Amino acid sequence: MGSLAERLKDRSLSAEVLNEMGSERNKTDVEIISTFEAAETQGDLTRSLKREIKTLKSKVIAQDIRIFEMQALLQSGKGLSNILDLPRLLDTFMAVVRERYDVVTSCVFLKEDIDSGEKEFFQIKRYFGLDDYYVDVGGRREPLFLFRIEKNNGLLWQLIQQGNVFSVRDLQKEPRFITAWERSQLDVLRSDFWCPLIKSGEVIGILMLGEKRDGTQVSEGEFDFVQELASIATTIIDSTLKYEKNQRILRNIQILYEVHQQLANINDQRELCYETIRRAVKAVNAQKGNLMLFNKQTGKLEFNVGWGFIDEAVVDAINDGRIETKSFELGEGIAGHAAVERRPIVVNNREDIPQVGSFETYCMCSIPVINGGNLEGVMNFTNKVHINEQGQPSLDVLGRFTREDISLLQGIADQSAVSLHKSRLYSASITDRLTGLHNTRYFEDTYHEYVAKAMVEDRSLCLAVLDIDHFKQFNDKYGHKFGDQVLRAVAQELDRFRRPNSMDVAYRYGGEEFALVMPDASLEEARDHVEKFRAAVEALKLEFDGKPVGVTVTAGLGQTKVHARDSRHLFATVDEALYEGKRSGRNRVQVAQELKDVRGKQSA
Ligand code: GH3
Ligand code: MG
Ligand code: MG
Repeated sequence: MGSLAERLKDRSLSAEVLNEMGSERNKTDVEIISTFEAAETQGDLTRSLKREIKTLKSKVIAQDIRIFEMQALLQSGKGLSNILDLPRLLDTFMAVVRERYDVVTSCVFLKEDIDSGEKEFFQIKRYFGLDDYYVDVGGRREPLFLFRIEKNNGLLWQLIQQGNVFSVRDLQKEPRFITAWERSQLDVLRSDFWCPLIKSGEVIGILMLGEKRDGTQVSEGEFDFVQELASIATTIIDSTLKYEKNQRILRNIQILYEVHQQLANINDQRELCYETIRRAVKAVNAQKGNLMLFNKQTGKLEFNVGWGFIDEAVVDAINDGRIETKSFELGEGIAGHAAVERRPIVVNNREDIPQVGSFETYCMCSIPVINGGNLEGVMNFTNKVHINEQGQPSLDVLGRFTREDISLLQGIADQSAVSLHKSRLYSASITDRLTGLHNTRYFEDTYHEYVAKAMVEDRSLCLAVLDIDHFKQFNDKYGHKFGDQVLRAVAQELDRFRRPNSMDVAYRYGGEEFALVMPDASLEEARDHVEKFRAAVEALKLEFDGKPVGVTVTAGLGQTKVHARDSRHLFATVDEALYEGKRSGRNRVQVAQELKDVRGKQSA
């Protein structure tokens, strides 16, 4: 291809100008002069001159049109290159072309950025003069923005790949590519000639133009303008697409970095799951999402937490278990498939999604959460939202999960898999295996902090240390296994006895000793509470070989304000109270001795 100027030089002129110029248009200046000379000798100069002046005039007109088109092209090209917003760029590109040809309808298709497996689709990006809806093959009314064309090896696509503008209807206005027309319902687009948009040998899109306003077709001789402008526009469209993509990649890296920072500091599994899903949903503007953890015992994916741009009360009800959620077998549903196949699964076709519940689902995807080859869970997302400038979401029925969305979600899933694994290790390291209560290590890690904080803030905190009475006898009489059973039964009771909506923490402190930390509890409140626990243990109905076996506990109890100078002191006085309780008959709650020197605790 030559330079723009070269190509413009031998541009054919419009039909109108050609007519006006008649048969004289091909004469060179030398020929015209020799005609003059001939006319002179023949004494017929006037007639000849008139004719030649007419010819020259036509030439000037043609030249003027050429110059004008070249300027228009240049200006349009310059104008387009200033636009970095894709919709506006496409709209301007189409408007210039429509005006040049006086055509009524136009649309631009661009290659789709969603994963459709082997297939490649082109989706309508902008249109003008067309209906906003069309009826699809299944007879459904759909927004025109959902209209897409599958690329194939047919004649039409061979032509598109050539890159030249071509007419898609014959002179009778019948489609030239009947098979493609019928298969893809191309009539909807009311197009008359197509201009492939080609960058580095690859079709990135197609500009389609309709008939002229007067109902006639644009002739092939006039295609040059759109061909030229398209080659300029394609470069700009391509760089805009790349610019937008880079912006998104940059944003995604930023999100991944933030997620990494955030998750690294969370040890609590539930909070970790919640933060993961909240951030993931926001990252891709999904309408809602949830995280299911893989339960090795049941072999099922079990709902853990959800988050979404939906009613907060609904989110809370789901997370609190007030709205029932379904567990999935491996291989069941999209989530189960993603888990088994260990790869993201995307369904962007509404027809392929089973519609359950009151939410309409337009698109969904499931991302496996895998750490070092171990399945931790699956994240699921449904629908997309638009977020307006005020930050208000609205359902985006045209939104789909793009390749970039999926790779971002996979990045977040990978991050959370590592964090989940770490949190599980951590959780195991602070949990007593026999009873499931927190262990001694966790007691050591947290107890002193709790007390120090309460003392600094001058708040009450109570500590109870509990010991099973004559526990050795259970082991001796009924065996170690039964002893374990007693430990579990008492621990379960203690766990149940944490005060509702409190920060109470229960620990298995030693062999058959437990601790209960009750922040913000007054001494009276704590004493009532521990007394209830004592009674509940006494009422436990344990059996060995069908015979009832009674269990009792003795507790020591103390409070930061009246019993201790610091955490070690509090523990020591409460432990002392426990032994006092043992000495004075067991199965009781013994409150610690009050500090003699109350001022002493201020100095601690
Ligand atoms: P007291 O009323 O004075 O507390 O008497 P006790 O028998 O409960 O106290 P002692 O400290 O003499 O006995 C505690 C026993 O608990 C000794 C130990 O073998 C047993 N033990 C410690 N850890 C476990 C455990 O994990 N499982 C079982 N079955 N027994 C345990
Ligand atoms: Mg004991
Ligand atoms: Mg003991």
